[in-house]
Parts: sequence; C-alpha cells; structure tokens
Amino acid sequence: MLNRVISGNIKICGIIGDPLEHTMSPVMHNAAFDEMGVDYLYIPFRVEKEKLGRAIEGMRALNIRGLNVTIPHKVAVIQFLDELDDLAEKIGAVNTIVNDDGVLTGYNTDATGFLQALLKRGIEPKGKNVVILGAGGASRAISFILAERGSNLVILNRTVDKAKELADRISKILQRETEVLKLDRENLAKALSKADILVNATSVGMSPNIDETPVASNLLKSGMIVFDTIYNPIKTRLQTEAEEAGAITISGLDMLVWQGALAFEKWTGLKAPVELMREEVIKRLINNRN
Ligand code: NAP
Repeated sequence: MLNRVISGNIKICGIIGDPLEHTMSPVMHNAAFDEMGVDYLYIPFRVEKEKLGRAIEGMRALNIRGLNVTIPHKVAVIQFLDELDDLAEKIGAVNTIVNDDGVLTGYNTDATGFLQALLKRGIEPKGKNVVILGAGGASRAISFILAERGSNLVILNRTVDKAKELADRISKILQRETEVLKLDRENLAKALSKADILVNATSVGMSPNIDETPVASNLLKSGMIVFDTIYNPIKTRLQTEAEEAGAITISGLDMLVWQGALAFEKWTGLKAPVELMREEVIKRLINNRN
C-alpha cells in the first residue's frame, strides 16, 4: 500500500514486459522506497514486443530513472541502450536499466542476484561442480556468472541444441568449456553423482504444476546444495525432497529479492532493505494463493 504524497520531484522506476500479471517487483520496490523514505515510485508497464523501441524512447523522454526488463525483452532491449555493463554484455541480456541524465546503461542483476543469494548463504561456487537444468533466460544469466566465477558446469536441457548454443557462447566469450547433456534420468544420475551444486533453471515445478519435479528424489543426496530458481511456490517439490535427503536448499525467492535489491541500489544509491523486500514478496505470494 502506498502511503505517501507524490511530489513533482518524484523519480519513476518500473518494469517493462509482457505479460506482467504475476510480477512481484512493484510490491517489492514500492515497499523498499517507502521504508527508505525516498521520493521514488515503481510502476508496471506492459510493453508489446513491437513497441519496445518506442518504450525506451519514452523512458528517455519522460526521464524515467530506472527500469527492470522481463520476458520477452531482455535480449532485444540491448540495441536501444547507450552503455552495457561488462557482465550484461557477456550474457547478452539485460534486466535492469539505469538512466543517468539521458545515458541508459544496461545491467544483469538476475546473474549478480543469483550469485549474491549463494554468497549470502556462505557458498562460494568457485571450483565447484555445478549441474544446471535448463537453457532459457534464467539459465543463461546463471551459467555465465558461474562460469566467470570459475565453477565447472554441466548444463542439461530438454532441447539439447539450446544448451549447446549456450555452451558455445560461454566457450567463445569466457574461454571455459561446459558439458552439455539432454535432460533425462540417465544423464541426470551421471551428472549428479559428481555435483556439489544443483540449480533448477527450468519451469518444472512452478505454480500451478507444483506436483512436478525435474529430479527424482533418489538422485538427491545429503550435503548437496540445491538451488531452485522457482519462487512460486516458495517451496517447490524439488526443495522439499532435497531437504528430506539432507541437502542444503536455496529458494528462487532469494534470487528474486537480490536481483531487486541490486537494482534498487543502482537506482537510489542506497543500501536496499532486503529483509523487508523479502517479506513483501512472501506476503504477496501468500495473498495470491488465497
Ligand atoms: P525460459 O527462457 O522460457 O526457459 C524455460 C526453461 O525450462 C527451458 O530450458 C525449457 O526447456 C525448460 N522447460 C520448460 N518446461 C519443461 C519441461 N516440461 N520439461 C523439461 N524442461 C522444461 O524461462 P526462464 O525465464 O529461463 O525461466 C526459467 C525458470 O527460472 C522459471 O521457473 C522462472 O520462474 C525462474 N526464474 C526465476 C527468477 C528469480 O529471480 N528467482 C528469475 C528468472 C527466472 P526447453 O529449452 O526444452 O524448452
């Protein structure tokens, strides 16, 4: 709930994507702006694919301070920006734009948010064997930041050619080799036998299909770190079964909150109230369920 007067000096931030019905970002950022007492407001803007260029022109014309970018615009938006952060350039996708006096710079806080979620749990991925499921947008950000950090990666995907494309990009840009396998039970068993960290970056198990899991429970083991990027439901079947097997689990909620917190810090220059942002998302997820 917004509790403040909108002044003439307000700085506008927001999110562009299509669809946006399920976005958690407005509730998370507006609560953070309120908490920090800054004159900022966060608005969802549904932007269709063919209107992306005009939307970014609008950002310039209206002097919008910052935008998050979500499906389907994360790759296409790059052509309309002035500067790209080094990591976003390597990944080839942007989820956060900062407008500094008309200069638009793109960042990828999905990647840095994922890493931050790991580091905050005391997990350093450098030198670890990481099995990543999926080769879509989330996997791309995660695979790049882990490869750059020095993890050994195996990527498994239902459509193996998409995983190959991702591995080729990593090899070309970071000069690190990545193993690629088709996502099936046999390959999973093989990959997980050597894994320190498992990341689910597929949508398998996401609401409403909460009874699904990408990994059979008998392949999960004690001591393994299981990071499910899904945040709805807050606890997936994969996470529940991983906990039962004695694994350490991290929720996609952590990644969501950290990508938001890092964007907040770029727009405001202030440290984000991370715990409050997390509570607001949890409240919204629970409300949506009821
Ligand atoms: P995406 O680009 O559409 O990729 C979807 C991925 O899931 C692809 O690898 C796809 O495989 C795989 N997949 C979908 N249905 C499958 C099935 N039935 N069996 C096996 N694989 C299947 O989507 P995305 O943006 O990367 O999102 C992927 C997940 O990441 C979602 O669960 C999303 O909630 C999560 N995510 C979380 C955050 C966060 O902040 N926590 C941020 C972004 C995304 P194919 O290539 O074979 O189609």
